[in-house]
Amino acid sequence: MMKVQNIGYDDDIICPYCHKVLVTQDNEDYEICEHTIFIDTSDGFEWIRDDLKNVVTELFSEQYDEESLSKFPFKGTLIASESGGLMGLSVYWGFVE
Ligand SMILES: [Zn+2]
Repeated sequence: MMKVQNIGYDDDIICPYCHKVLVTQDNEDYEICEHTIFIDTSDGFEWIRDDLKNVVTELFSEQYDEESLSKFPFKGTLIASESGGLMGLSVYWGFVE
């Protein structure tokens, strides 16, 4: 299952496991770390780790709700920055331990 961590639209994206800073607000580039499994926005997925592509698209193409998050087969964290963000997008980052 995935637990949800909500952040503000102007907060940095920081991996909950290794604490690497992946996105800062003054930098439009992003990095990933070994725990990152996907980056999703209200426009669709921007990146998904290859070996989890099927699982992630099947569960989370529609929305992130209690059911889809609980069906995720690994222990993970979803960092959600809803509305606002870069150009008003919602941004979701998925991580596994
Ligand atoms: Zn990490």
